[in-house]
Amino acid sequence: MYAWRSELKWLLVVFSLTGAVGYFLNILLPSLLVLTLILLIIDLLQLHRLKTWLAKDHGSDKSEPPVSFGVWGGVFDGIYRLQKQERRASAHLESLLNKAQESSAALETGIIMINRYNNLDWWNRATETMLGLRYPQDRGQSITNLIRAPEFAEYFNRESYDEPLKLNAPGENARMLECQIALFGKHERLMIVRDITQLHRLELMRKDFVGNVSHELGTPITVIKGYLEAIIDNMQDMDPKWKKPIEQMHQQSARMENIVRDLLLLSSLETKHRPKPQDSFSLSRLLNDINDDLMQLLKRKSHHFSIECDLLLEMLGDRGEIYSALSNLVVNAVKYTPANGLINIQVQHDDETLKIMVEDNGIGIEPQHISRLTERFYRVDVSRSSETGGTGLGLAIVKHVLMRHDAELIISSEIGRGSRFICHFPATRFRIGQPVMDTLTKSQSRKTSLALN
Ligand code: ADP
Repeated sequence: MYAWRSELKWLLVVFSLTGAVGYFLNILLPSLLVLTLILLIIDLLQLHRLKTWLAKDHGSDKSEPPVSFGVWGGVFDGIYRLQKQERRASAHLESLLNKAQESSAALETGIIMINRYNNLDWWNRATETMLGLRYPQDRGQSITNLIRAPEFAEYFNRESYDEPLKLNAPGENARMLECQIALFGKHERLMIVRDITQLHRLELMRKDFVGNVSHELGTPITVIKGYLEAIIDNMQDMDPKWKKPIEQMHQQSARMENIVRDLLLLSSLETKHRPKPQDSFSLSRLLNDINDDLMQLLKRKSHHFSIECDLLLEMLGDRGEIYSALSNLVVNAVKYTPANGLINIQVQHDDETLKIMVEDNGIGIEPQHISRLTERFYRVDVSRSSETGGTGLGLAIVKHVLMRHDAELIISSEIGRGSRFICHFPATRFRIGQPVMDTLTKSQSRKTSLALN
Protein backbone atom coordinates (compact mmCIF):
# COMPACT_ATOMS: atom_id res chain seq x y z
CA MET A 1 0.00 0.00 0.00
CA TYR A 2 2.84 2.32 1.02
CA ALA A 3 4.75 1.54 -2.23
CA TRP A 4 1.68 2.32 -4.30
CA ARG A 5 1.13 5.64 -2.59
CA SER A 6 4.75 6.78 -2.98
CA GLU A 7 4.72 5.52 -6.59
CA LEU A 8 1.64 7.63 -7.30
CA LYS A 9 3.22 10.64 -5.58
CA TRP A 10 6.39 10.16 -7.60
CA LEU A 11 4.43 9.91 -10.88
CA LEU A 12 2.45 13.04 -9.97
CA VAL A 13 5.66 14.99 -9.26
CA VAL A 14 7.38 13.78 -12.46
CA PHE A 15 4.33 14.48 -14.63
CA SER A 16 3.82 17.96 -12.99
CA LEU A 17 7.47 18.94 -13.47
CA THR A 18 7.55 17.68 -17.07
CA GLY A 19 4.20 19.41 -17.73
CA ALA A 20 5.49 22.69 -16.27
CA VAL A 21 8.75 22.58 -18.28
CA GLY A 22 6.83 21.56 -21.45
CA TYR A 23 4.34 24.38 -20.90
CA PHE A 24 7.08 27.03 -20.58
CA LEU A 25 8.92 25.67 -23.61
CA ASN A 26 5.59 25.36 -25.46
CA ILE A 27 6.04 21.58 -26.01
CA LEU A 28 3.56 20.33 -23.42
CA LEU A 29 2.11 17.37 -25.34
CA PRO A 30 5.37 16.02 -26.84
CA SER A 31 7.13 16.28 -23.46
CA LEU A 32 4.33 14.33 -21.71
CA LEU A 33 4.38 11.72 -24.52
CA VAL A 34 8.15 11.31 -24.22
CA LEU A 35 7.82 10.93 -20.42
CA THR A 36 5.08 8.25 -20.83
CA LEU A 37 7.26 6.42 -23.36
CA ILE A 38 10.27 6.51 -20.99
CA LEU A 39 8.12 5.17 -18.11
CA LEU A 40 6.72 2.45 -20.37
CA ILE A 41 10.22 1.41 -21.44
CA ILE A 42 11.31 1.29 -17.76
CA ASP A 43 8.30 -0.97 -16.93
CA LEU A 44 9.01 -3.24 -19.90
CA LEU A 45 12.63 -3.54 -18.78
CA GLN A 46 11.52 -4.48 -15.26
CA LEU A 47 9.10 -7.06 -16.70
CA HIS A 48 11.91 -8.48 -18.82
CA ARG A 49 14.18 -8.79 -15.72
CA LEU A 50 11.41 -10.47 -13.80
CA LYS A 51 10.72 -12.92 -16.65
CA THR A 52 14.44 -13.76 -16.95
CA TRP A 53 14.68 -14.38 -13.21
CA LEU A 54 11.51 -16.51 -13.12
CA ALA A 55 12.77 -18.56 -16.08
CA LYS A 56 15.82 -19.72 -14.05
CA ASP A 57 15.84 -23.21 -12.51
CA HIS A 58 15.18 -22.25 -8.91
CA GLY A 59 15.80 -25.81 -7.73
CA SER A 60 19.54 -25.44 -8.35
CA ASP A 61 19.90 -21.64 -8.62
CA LYS A 62 18.89 -20.03 -5.34
CA SER A 63 19.83 -16.46 -6.48
CA GLU A 64 17.77 -13.56 -5.18
CA PRO A 65 15.54 -11.56 -7.57
CA PRO A 66 17.17 -8.49 -9.26
CA VAL A 67 17.24 -5.34 -7.14
CA SER A 68 14.45 -3.03 -8.12
CA PHE A 69 12.64 0.03 -6.84
CA GLY A 70 9.13 1.30 -6.40
CA VAL A 71 6.19 -0.99 -7.08
CA TRP A 72 8.42 -3.38 -9.02
CA GLY A 73 10.68 -3.74 -6.02
CA GLY A 74 7.61 -4.72 -3.95
CA VAL A 75 6.51 -7.23 -6.60
CA PHE A 76 10.01 -8.77 -6.76
CA ASP A 77 10.25 -9.01 -2.95
CA GLY A 78 6.73 -10.51 -2.69
CA ILE A 79 7.49 -13.22 -5.25
CA TYR A 80 10.81 -13.97 -3.56
CA ARG A 81 9.07 -14.27 -0.17
CA LEU A 82 6.47 -16.65 -1.60
CA GLN A 83 9.21 -18.66 -3.25
CA LYS A 84 11.11 -18.97 0.06
CA GLN A 85 7.93 -20.06 1.88
CA GLU A 86 7.22 -22.69 -0.76
CA ARG A 87 10.83 -23.87 -0.63
CA ARG A 88 10.60 -24.28 3.16
CA ALA A 89 7.28 -26.19 2.86
CA SER A 90 8.60 -28.51 0.17
CA ALA A 91 11.82 -29.10 2.17
CA HIS A 92 9.64 -30.06 5.16
CA LEU A 93 7.54 -32.36 2.96
CA GLU A 94 10.65 -33.86 1.42
CA SER A 95 12.17 -34.58 4.82
CA LEU A 96 8.86 -36.19 5.92
CA LEU A 97 8.79 -38.28 2.74
CA ASN A 98 12.43 -39.28 3.23
CA LYS A 99 11.69 -40.30 6.82
CA ALA A 100 8.64 -42.31 5.71
CA GLN A 101 10.68 -43.98 2.97
CA GLU A 102 13.61 -44.72 5.28
CA SER A 103 11.37 -46.14 8.01
CA SER A 104 9.36 -48.22 5.53
CA ALA A 105 12.63 -49.46 4.01
CA ALA A 106 13.69 -50.63 7.48
CA LEU A 107 10.42 -52.56 7.90
CA GLU A 108 10.34 -56.30 7.35
CA THR A 109 6.75 -55.95 6.16
CA GLY A 110 6.20 -55.23 2.50
CA ILE A 111 4.13 -52.17 1.59
CA ILE A 112 2.84 -51.61 -1.93
CA MET A 113 0.74 -48.74 -3.26
CA ILE A 114 -1.43 -49.63 -6.23
CA ASN A 115 -3.25 -46.96 -8.24
CA ARG A 116 -6.86 -47.05 -9.43
CA TYR A 117 -5.77 -48.67 -12.71
CA ASN A 118 -4.31 -51.61 -10.71
CA ASN A 119 -0.75 -50.54 -11.54
CA LEU A 120 2.15 -50.37 -9.10
CA ASP A 121 2.86 -46.84 -7.86
CA TRP A 122 5.33 -47.37 -5.05
CA TRP A 123 6.74 -50.14 -2.84
CA ASN A 124 9.33 -50.52 -0.11
CA ARG A 125 12.51 -52.57 -0.09
CA ALA A 126 11.07 -55.58 1.77
CA THR A 127 8.59 -56.09 -1.07
CA GLU A 128 11.46 -56.45 -3.54
CA THR A 129 12.83 -59.42 -1.59
CA MET A 130 9.41 -61.00 -0.97
CA LEU A 131 7.76 -60.55 -4.35
CA GLY A 132 10.83 -60.03 -6.52
CA LEU A 133 9.74 -56.57 -7.73
CA ARG A 134 12.42 -54.50 -9.48
CA TYR A 135 12.71 -50.74 -9.31
CA PRO A 136 12.14 -48.89 -11.62
CA GLN A 137 11.35 -51.53 -14.28
CA ASP A 138 8.15 -52.75 -12.58
CA ARG A 139 6.77 -49.31 -11.79
CA GLY A 140 3.46 -48.79 -13.60
CA GLN A 141 3.09 -52.54 -14.27
CA SER A 142 -0.16 -54.29 -13.43
CA ILE A 143 0.11 -56.10 -10.07
CA THR A 144 -1.77 -59.15 -11.40
CA ASN A 145 0.85 -59.54 -14.15
CA LEU A 146 3.60 -59.69 -11.55
CA ILE A 147 1.82 -61.94 -9.02
CA ARG A 148 0.32 -64.57 -11.27
CA ALA A 149 -1.23 -66.97 -8.70
CA PRO A 150 -4.95 -67.39 -9.64
CA GLU A 151 -6.00 -67.10 -5.98
CA PHE A 152 -4.31 -63.68 -5.85
CA ALA A 153 -6.20 -62.43 -8.93
CA GLU A 154 -9.44 -63.69 -7.37
CA TYR A 155 -8.61 -61.96 -4.05
CA PHE A 156 -7.46 -58.73 -5.72
CA ASN A 157 -10.64 -58.35 -7.77
CA ARG A 158 -12.90 -58.63 -4.70
CA GLU A 159 -14.88 -55.66 -3.47
CA SER A 160 -13.93 -56.04 0.20
CA TYR A 161 -10.84 -57.41 1.88
CA ASP A 162 -11.95 -58.56 5.35
CA GLU A 163 -9.63 -61.57 5.42
CA PRO A 164 -5.95 -61.68 4.43
CA LEU A 165 -4.80 -64.05 1.68
CA LYS A 166 -2.08 -66.67 2.15
CA LEU A 167 -0.05 -67.52 -0.92
CA ASN A 168 3.32 -68.96 -1.94
CA ALA A 169 5.99 -66.38 -2.79
CA PRO A 170 6.25 -66.11 -6.60
CA GLY A 171 8.88 -68.58 -7.78
CA GLU A 172 9.62 -69.79 -4.23
CA ASN A 173 7.22 -72.45 -3.09
CA ALA A 174 8.94 -72.88 0.27
CA ARG A 175 8.08 -69.31 1.30
CA MET A 176 4.61 -68.41 2.49
CA LEU A 177 3.27 -64.86 2.32
CA GLU A 178 0.20 -63.19 3.75
CA CYS A 179 -1.31 -60.27 1.82
CA GLN A 180 -3.88 -57.85 3.17
CA ILE A 181 -5.32 -55.09 1.00
CA ALA A 182 -6.88 -51.85 2.22
CA LEU A 183 -8.74 -49.41 -0.02
CA PHE A 184 -7.99 -45.68 0.16
CA GLY A 185 -8.42 -42.50 -1.89
CA LYS A 186 -10.17 -42.94 -5.23
CA HIS A 187 -10.19 -46.73 -5.42
CA GLU A 188 -6.46 -46.94 -4.78
CA ARG A 189 -5.10 -49.86 -2.78
CA LEU A 190 -2.48 -50.30 -0.10
CA MET A 191 -1.20 -53.85 0.12
CA ILE A 192 0.66 -55.15 3.17
CA VAL A 193 2.72 -58.30 2.61
CA ARG A 194 4.13 -60.38 5.49
CA ASP A 195 6.45 -63.34 5.36
CA ILE A 196 4.65 -66.02 7.41
CA THR A 197 6.85 -68.96 6.42
CA GLN A 198 7.86 -69.69 10.02
CA LEU A 199 4.32 -69.36 11.35
CA HIS A 200 2.99 -71.52 8.55
CA ARG A 201 5.62 -74.18 9.28
CA LEU A 202 4.66 -74.19 12.98
CA GLU A 203 1.00 -74.42 12.06
CA LEU A 204 1.73 -77.38 9.76
CA MET A 205 3.76 -79.03 12.54
CA ARG A 206 0.87 -78.56 14.96
CA LYS A 207 -1.62 -80.04 12.50
CA ASP A 208 0.72 -82.94 11.72
CA PHE A 209 1.31 -83.54 15.41
CA VAL A 210 -2.40 -83.63 16.25
CA GLY A 211 -3.07 -85.82 13.21
CA ASN A 212 -0.25 -88.25 14.04
CA VAL A 213 -1.05 -88.47 17.76
CA SER A 214 -4.73 -89.10 17.04
CA HIS A 215 -3.82 -91.70 14.46
CA GLU A 216 -1.37 -93.46 16.83
CA LEU A 217 -3.90 -93.44 19.69
CA GLY A 218 -6.63 -94.95 17.51
CA THR A 219 -5.39 -98.55 17.54
CA PRO A 220 -4.60 -98.87 21.30
CA ILE A 221 -7.99 -97.37 22.19
CA THR A 222 -9.80 -99.76 19.84
CA VAL A 223 -7.93 -102.72 21.41
CA ILE A 224 -8.69 -101.58 24.99
CA LYS A 225 -12.34 -100.95 24.13
CA GLY A 226 -12.60 -104.33 22.38
CA TYR A 227 -11.22 -106.22 25.42
CA LEU A 228 -13.49 -104.24 27.78
CA GLU A 229 -16.49 -105.19 25.63
CA ALA A 230 -15.43 -108.84 25.79
CA ILE A 231 -15.11 -108.59 29.61
CA ILE A 232 -18.56 -106.93 29.87
CA ASP A 233 -20.05 -109.76 27.76
CA ASN A 234 -18.65 -112.30 30.27
CA MET A 235 -19.40 -110.32 33.41
CA GLN A 236 -21.39 -113.15 35.02
CA ASP A 237 -18.12 -115.05 35.80
CA MET A 238 -16.60 -112.05 37.56
CA ASP A 239 -16.70 -110.60 41.03
CA PRO A 240 -19.66 -108.05 40.98
CA LYS A 241 -17.46 -105.37 42.59
CA TRP A 242 -15.69 -105.00 39.19
CA LYS A 243 -18.91 -104.33 37.27
CA LYS A 244 -19.05 -100.54 37.83
CA PRO A 245 -15.33 -99.77 37.22
CA ILE A 246 -15.28 -101.87 34.07
CA GLU A 247 -18.42 -100.20 32.74
CA GLN A 248 -16.87 -96.80 33.47
CA MET A 249 -13.65 -97.83 31.74
CA HIS A 250 -15.69 -98.89 28.72
CA GLN A 251 -17.64 -95.63 28.71
CA GLN A 252 -14.43 -93.56 28.92
CA SER A 253 -12.70 -95.61 26.21
CA ALA A 254 -15.72 -94.97 23.96
CA ARG A 255 -15.35 -91.25 24.71
CA MET A 256 -11.64 -91.37 23.92
CA GLU A 257 -12.46 -93.12 20.66
CA ASN A 258 -14.91 -90.32 19.79
CA ILE A 259 -12.33 -87.62 20.63
CA VAL A 260 -9.70 -89.32 18.47
CA ARG A 261 -12.22 -89.69 15.61
CA ASP A 262 -13.20 -85.99 15.82
CA LEU A 263 -9.56 -84.85 16.09
CA LEU A 264 -8.66 -86.87 13.01
CA LEU A 265 -11.61 -85.40 11.15
CA LEU A 266 -10.63 -81.85 12.18
CA SER A 267 -7.02 -82.38 11.18
CA SER A 268 -8.06 -83.73 7.77
CA LEU A 269 -10.41 -80.74 7.32
CA GLU A 270 -7.49 -78.41 8.05
CA THR A 271 -5.05 -80.07 5.69
CA LYS A 272 -7.21 -81.11 2.72
CA HIS A 273 -7.86 -78.81 -0.26
CA ARG A 274 -11.18 -76.97 -0.20
CA PRO A 275 -13.96 -78.95 -1.86
CA LYS A 276 -14.64 -77.58 -5.34
CA PRO A 277 -18.30 -76.75 -6.03
CA GLN A 278 -18.46 -79.39 -8.76
CA ASP A 279 -19.77 -82.41 -6.90
CA SER A 280 -23.49 -82.20 -6.33
CA PHE A 281 -25.76 -84.21 -4.06
CA SER A 282 -29.38 -84.09 -2.98
CA LEU A 283 -29.84 -82.23 0.29
CA SER A 284 -33.16 -83.83 1.17
CA ARG A 285 -31.66 -87.30 0.69
CA LEU A 286 -28.72 -86.38 2.93
CA LEU A 287 -31.09 -85.11 5.65
CA ASN A 288 -33.09 -88.33 5.41
CA ASP A 289 -29.88 -90.35 5.79
CA ILE A 290 -28.96 -88.35 8.90
CA ASN A 291 -32.44 -88.98 10.23
CA ASP A 292 -32.20 -92.74 9.60
CA ASP A 293 -28.79 -92.93 11.28
CA LEU A 294 -30.14 -91.05 14.29
CA MET A 295 -32.98 -93.47 14.90
CA GLN A 296 -30.74 -95.25 17.43
CA LEU A 297 -30.44 -92.10 19.51
CA LEU A 298 -34.11 -91.23 19.12
CA LYS A 299 -35.08 -94.62 20.47
CA ARG A 300 -33.67 -93.71 23.84
CA LYS A 301 -35.25 -90.28 24.08
CA SER A 302 -38.55 -89.87 22.27
CA HIS A 303 -38.18 -86.58 20.42
CA HIS A 304 -40.56 -85.10 17.88
CA PHE A 305 -38.53 -84.65 14.77
CA SER A 306 -39.44 -82.73 11.57
CA ILE A 307 -37.58 -82.07 8.34
CA GLU A 308 -38.64 -79.61 5.65
CA CYS A 309 -36.61 -79.40 2.46
CA ASP A 310 -37.10 -78.82 -1.27
CA LEU A 311 -36.69 -82.18 -3.00
CA LEU A 312 -34.87 -80.64 -5.95
CA LEU A 313 -32.28 -78.78 -3.88
CA GLU A 314 -28.75 -79.91 -4.69
CA MET A 315 -25.72 -78.86 -2.73
CA LEU A 316 -22.34 -78.35 -4.37
CA GLY A 317 -19.44 -79.59 -2.27
CA ASP A 318 -18.27 -82.56 -0.24
CA ARG A 319 -21.22 -84.74 0.82
CA GLY A 320 -19.26 -86.46 3.60
CA GLU A 321 -18.24 -83.16 5.18
CA ILE A 322 -21.73 -81.63 5.00
CA TYR A 323 -23.10 -84.88 6.48
CA SER A 324 -20.66 -84.56 9.44
CA ALA A 325 -21.55 -80.90 10.03
CA LEU A 326 -25.33 -81.33 9.89
CA SER A 327 -25.35 -84.57 11.86
CA ASN A 328 -23.29 -82.86 14.59
CA LEU A 329 -25.92 -80.11 14.81
CA VAL A 330 -28.78 -82.62 14.91
CA VAL A 331 -27.00 -84.86 17.46
CA ASN A 332 -26.42 -81.78 19.65
CA ALA A 333 -30.10 -80.84 19.35
CA VAL A 334 -30.99 -84.35 20.54
CA LYS A 335 -28.35 -84.32 23.32
CA TYR A 336 -29.33 -80.98 24.76
CA THR A 337 -33.11 -81.35 24.50
CA PRO A 338 -35.01 -83.29 27.16
CA ALA A 339 -37.27 -86.20 26.20
CA ASN A 340 -40.36 -85.32 24.11
CA GLY A 341 -38.64 -82.16 22.85
CA LEU A 342 -39.13 -80.74 19.36
CA ILE A 343 -36.33 -80.83 16.80
CA ASN A 344 -36.98 -79.01 13.57
CA ILE A 345 -34.73 -79.03 10.49
CA GLN A 346 -35.83 -76.48 7.95
CA VAL A 347 -34.22 -75.57 4.63
CA GLN A 348 -35.01 -72.23 3.02
CA HIS A 349 -33.48 -70.66 -0.07
CA ASP A 350 -33.72 -67.73 -2.45
CA ASP A 351 -31.48 -66.81 -5.41
CA GLU A 352 -28.66 -65.63 -3.15
CA THR A 353 -28.53 -67.89 -0.08
CA LEU A 354 -29.43 -71.27 1.25
CA LYS A 355 -30.26 -71.54 4.95
CA ILE A 356 -30.23 -74.85 6.75
CA MET A 357 -31.73 -74.38 10.17
CA VAL A 358 -31.53 -76.87 13.04
CA GLU A 359 -33.79 -75.76 15.85
CA ASP A 360 -34.70 -77.32 19.18
CA ASN A 361 -36.71 -76.38 22.24
CA GLY A 362 -34.13 -77.75 24.63
CA ILE A 363 -32.08 -76.34 27.51
CA GLY A 364 -30.70 -73.37 25.52
CA ILE A 365 -27.35 -71.60 25.93
CA GLU A 366 -26.50 -68.50 27.94
CA PRO A 367 -25.55 -65.54 25.69
CA GLN A 368 -21.97 -65.20 27.03
CA HIS A 369 -21.06 -68.67 25.71
CA ILE A 370 -22.42 -68.29 22.17
CA SER A 371 -19.39 -66.59 20.56
CA ARG A 372 -17.03 -69.28 21.95
CA LEU A 373 -19.01 -72.42 21.12
CA THR A 374 -17.05 -73.21 17.95
CA GLU A 375 -13.69 -73.22 19.79
CA ARG A 376 -12.11 -76.63 20.22
CA PHE A 377 -13.00 -78.31 23.52
CA TYR A 378 -15.22 -75.42 24.59
CA ARG A 379 -18.19 -76.67 26.58
CA VAL A 380 -20.85 -74.73 28.39
CA ASP A 381 -21.21 -77.34 31.09
CA VAL A 382 -18.35 -79.84 31.26
CA SER A 383 -20.16 -82.30 33.51
CA ARG A 384 -23.28 -82.38 31.30
CA SER A 385 -21.13 -82.69 28.18
CA SER A 386 -19.21 -85.69 29.57
CA GLU A 387 -22.53 -87.18 30.63
CA THR A 388 -23.83 -86.93 27.07
CA GLY A 389 -20.59 -88.35 25.65
CA GLY A 390 -19.66 -84.97 24.07
CA THR A 391 -16.12 -84.31 22.90
CA GLY A 392 -16.30 -80.52 22.71
CA LEU A 393 -15.21 -80.76 19.08
CA GLY A 394 -18.57 -81.04 17.31
CA LEU A 395 -19.17 -77.35 16.64
CA ALA A 396 -15.49 -76.80 15.73
CA ILE A 397 -16.02 -79.42 13.00
CA VAL A 398 -19.21 -77.66 11.89
CA LYS A 399 -17.37 -74.33 11.65
CA HIS A 400 -14.51 -75.83 9.62
CA VAL A 401 -16.80 -77.64 7.20
CA LEU A 402 -18.85 -74.48 6.65
CA MET A 403 -15.71 -72.37 6.14
CA ARG A 404 -14.52 -74.85 3.52
CA HIS A 405 -17.88 -74.38 1.74
CA ASP A 406 -17.82 -70.54 1.95
CA ALA A 407 -20.64 -70.69 4.47
CA GLU A 408 -21.10 -69.38 8.00
CA LEU A 409 -22.83 -70.49 11.16
CA ILE A 410 -25.22 -68.20 13.02
CA ILE A 411 -26.23 -69.30 16.51
CA SER A 412 -29.09 -67.91 18.55
CA SER A 413 -30.42 -69.34 21.77
CA GLU A 414 -32.49 -68.57 24.79
CA ILE A 415 -31.92 -70.32 28.07
CA GLY A 416 -34.74 -72.74 28.85
CA ARG A 417 -36.45 -72.15 25.48
CA GLY A 418 -34.11 -73.71 22.94
CA SER A 419 -31.41 -73.05 20.35
CA ARG A 420 -31.24 -72.34 16.65
CA PHE A 421 -28.20 -73.08 14.49
CA ILE A 422 -28.41 -71.66 10.95
CA CYS A 423 -25.89 -72.54 8.22
CA HIS A 424 -25.80 -69.84 5.52
CA PHE A 425 -24.49 -71.04 2.15
CA PRO A 426 -23.82 -68.67 -0.77
CA ALA A 427 -25.37 -69.11 -4.25
CA THR A 428 -22.19 -70.86 -5.49
CA ARG A 429 -22.87 -73.82 -3.17
CA PHE A 430 -26.36 -74.92 -4.23
CA ARG A 431 -28.66 -75.22 -7.22
CA ILE A 432 -32.13 -76.43 -8.07
CA GLY A 433 -31.85 -79.75 -9.90
CA GLN A 434 -34.08 -81.12 -12.65
CA PRO A 435 -37.16 -83.08 -11.50
CA VAL A 436 -36.90 -86.81 -12.19
CA MET A 437 -40.36 -88.02 -13.18
CA ASP A 438 -40.25 -91.43 -11.52
CA THR A 439 -39.34 -89.95 -8.12
CA LEU A 440 -41.50 -86.85 -8.38
CA THR A 441 -44.85 -87.04 -10.08
CA LYS A 442 -46.42 -83.84 -11.36
CA SER A 443 -49.01 -83.74 -8.63
CA GLN A 444 -46.42 -84.07 -5.84
CA SER A 445 -45.22 -81.04 -3.95
CA ARG A 446 -41.51 -80.25 -4.31
CA LYS A 447 -41.23 -79.85 -0.55
CA THR A 448 -40.71 -82.89 1.56
CA SER A 449 -41.61 -82.83 5.15
CA LEU A 450 -41.13 -85.66 7.50
CA ALA A 451 -42.42 -85.86 11.00
CA LEU A 452 -41.28 -88.55 13.37
CA ASN A 453 -42.22 -89.29 16.90
P1 ADP B 1 -20.04 -81.37 22.69
O1 ADP B 1 -19.39 -82.55 22.09
O2 ADP B 1 -19.64 -81.12 24.10
O3 ADP B 1 -21.52 -81.37 22.46
P2 ADP B 1 -19.91 -79.27 20.73
O4 ADP B 1 -18.74 -78.58 20.15
O5 ADP B 1 -20.80 -80.03 19.81
O6 ADP B 1 -19.37 -80.16 21.90
O7 ADP B 1 -20.79 -78.20 21.47
C1 ADP B 1 -20.16 -77.29 22.35
C2 ADP B 1 -21.09 -76.93 23.49
O8 ADP B 1 -22.19 -76.18 22.96
C3 ADP B 1 -21.72 -78.12 24.15
O9 ADP B 1 -20.90 -78.57 25.20
C4 ADP B 1 -23.04 -77.57 24.66
O10 ADP B 1 -22.89 -77.02 25.93
C5 ADP B 1 -23.37 -76.45 23.69
N1 ADP B 1 -24.41 -76.84 22.72
C6 ADP B 1 -24.22 -77.27 21.46
N2 ADP B 1 -25.40 -77.50 20.83
C7 ADP B 1 -26.37 -77.20 21.75
C8 ADP B 1 -27.79 -77.22 21.70
N3 ADP B 1 -28.48 -77.58 20.63
N4 ADP B 1 -28.45 -76.84 22.84
C9 ADP B 1 -27.77 -76.44 23.94
N5 ADP B 1 -26.42 -76.41 24.02
C10 ADP B 1 -25.73 -76.78 22.95
